[in-house]
Amino acid sequence: MGSDIVAAEHSTDTGAASLAIHCLGVQKSYTSGSGPQRTVTHALRGVNLDVRRGELMMLVGPSGCGKTTLLSVLAGILNQDSGTVLVEGEDINHLPERQRSAFRGHALGFVFQSYNLIPSLSISENVSVPLIIRGCGWDEASVRAEAMLAKVGLGDRAQALPRHLSGGQQQRVAIARAMVHDPKIIVCDEPTSALDQDTGHLMMELFREVVLTEGRTLVIVTHDSRIFSFADRIARMNDGEVLEVVEAASLSEETHSH
Ligand code: ADP
Repeated sequence: MGSDIVAAEHSTDTGAASLAIHCLGVQKSYTSGSGPQRTVTHALRGVNLDVRRGELMMLVGPSGCGKTTLLSVLAGILNQDSGTVLVEGEDINHLPERQRSAFRGHALGFVFQSYNLIPSLSISENVSVPLIIRGCGWDEASVRAEAMLAKVGLGDRAQALPRHLSGGQQQRVAIARAMVHDPKIIVCDEPTSALDQDTGHLMMELFREVVLTEGRTLVIVTHDSRIFSFADRIARMNDGEVLEVVEAASLSEETHSH
């Protein structure tokens, strides 16, 4: 244990700045209730995890093991209680709030499970929203949104409303919206859990094709074993810890050999 920490700390000095994400000894607890009803849940109990630039890392493990908490901490949505989180070499959770949200705003993109598209806005306007939030004017935003929509194969649907699109097309919009501001890292929580196998595979193919270009990094929380083979590496979590990180290729060889 002690020697692990020394080794990991050593990697901070030499290589952490070149990683997309570096987590060392990350702990996070939730407290609810007060007095005798007070309960503390140790969601992360000292997570060590390195994510390389340009890779697709999946966080897997049973429900309640801390996957969403870890994703939230490394995306700067939640503060860890202790430990180090470097994102693109930046110690985000120790930045002042304003700088932290600016960093999160340009470095990270999010794909939500339910897509969260705004029903009254056109597809182009939906994809423009992250740019508008960042201070871009509507004219420039819609040019960039439509270029991004063309990349995900929806260039001809820019003026449609979300309800006029199929589920698969709405996923594409969600991916376009997560990428329109050119983030280095995209994070997704359970992107395929509500999808049938074929649609889930199409989404993962799209992720590989569109997201993992230009050195972008993708971190996906999932318990959907049907998509494990799309990962480069898989971090297996249990009870608030990353137990091991395995190459997905070795995993499918294991599966085939049984
Ligand atoms: P997973 O994504 O693997 O299902 P979570 O990170 O959501 O796990 O949750 C880890 C643990 O923390 C669980 O025991 C969960 O009940 C608890 N937890 C998560 N969010 C909260 C919260 N806001 N308040 C209290 N407990 C929480």
